[in-house]
Amino acid sequence: VIYLDYHSTTPCDPRVLKVMLPYFEEDYANPSNNYHYAGRMVQSHIEEARRKIASIINANEKEIIFTSGATESNNLAILGLARTYQGKRNKIVTTPIEHKSVLKSCEYLEKHGLVIDYLDVDHTGAVILESAKDIIDETTLLVSIQACNNEIGTIQPLVEISNIAKESGALVHCDAAQAVGKIPVDVAHFDVDFLSISSHKLYGPKGVGALFIRKGLRRSLEPLYWGGDQELGLRPGTHNVPGIIGMAEACLICEEEMVLESSETKDLRDLFERSLKKNIPDIKFNGNEHNRLPGNSNITFPGVEGDALLLNLPQLALSIGSACNTGAIEPSYVLTAIGLSREYANSTIRIGIGRFTTEAEIMTAVKEITDAYNLLLNKVI
Ligand code: PMP
Repeated sequence: VIYLDYHSTTPCDPRVLKVMLPYFEEDYANPSNNYHYAGRMVQSHIEEARRKIASIINANEKEIIFTSGATESNNLAILGLARTYQGKRNKIVTTPIEHKSVLKSCEYLEKHGLVIDYLDVDHTGAVILESAKDIIDETTLLVSIQACNNEIGTIQPLVEISNIAKESGALVHCDAAQAVGKIPVDVAHFDVDFLSISSHKLYGPKGVGALFIRKGLRRSLEPLYWGGDQELGLRPGTHNVPGIIGMAEACLICEEEMVLESSETKDLRDLFERSLKKNIPDIKFNGNEHNRLPGNSNITFPGVEGDALLLNLPQLALSIGSACNTGAIEPSYVLTAIGLSREYANSTIRIGIGRFTTEAEIMTAVKEITDAYNLLLNKVI
């Protein structure tokens, strides 16, 4: 099987797995127990991991807390802030193309009396800044914007949006699950207050992530769970030690290799799109042609259903819309929000290219997709 679903998840890099293994076999002590040396040693490794993770987003290690992934980080930032806030600010501003962990957190708060407003996005998925100027105001508590989209890869104008938010005194949360490790993410440059990271999107293990909380804001979040004092009580529960160590190593590798890797990934993506377009001139690419994740290709095949195409491609691991919505009959809400018709949205597949993709795999995928498309159109060439 040729794996082309890197937005859904990435394989754990073997170098990452290697540094994790001792934490299952020897260094299994609980880092919260500082009565014995073994616990204290693991604790010091956790702190080292925190520094490595902080470094990839240009944060201070004291600003990082560990979670189970970006879903939890997004929930903690949005619900955690809303639950402590008692002032006049009762509005959260987001976009219609966020991940469900953001959208559903907002919907929950709406049921509990908060106002949720959505910024307009253009046909590439980029936030229209005029709408940010109109909607973000003195009643806005938080603006939650993804760094880039998990279906169409479009990178958001975060610096500009943060500027607008800061003018109104609103805080900014960024879901950077798809961005960290792939494109430069700098919390100082973005001027965000909270930022979510997921380990399994950057070649680390699944079930671990982090939330950046700008210095001074920790107390403005209420925990989602109650228990011990881990992560200063904001995220109680025994640390996922192997996961945290693995995530840190994954961040370190990304930091060192990102420039070269993203240009190689982009070259493969461009080769894929060029070759496929040559074979099937009718296809349409969605998202922002230039300003998008290097490994992303989101393609509409007019006249052919995306799921029928996938069923005819058993050797390729791809997805229609986003994996999180697979099984739903509804077309992708991201694609319809950027103006695709239901028919076009249902005729779309997502390709994610990444670290271990080869040119040979790309050329095989192009051939197989072309054959499957022609078969479905009943055109034998
Ligand atoms: N946000 C975005 C943009 C994502 O793509 C994902 C993963 N599909 C998440 C959040 C959730 O991340 P996790 O799987 O770590 O909970």
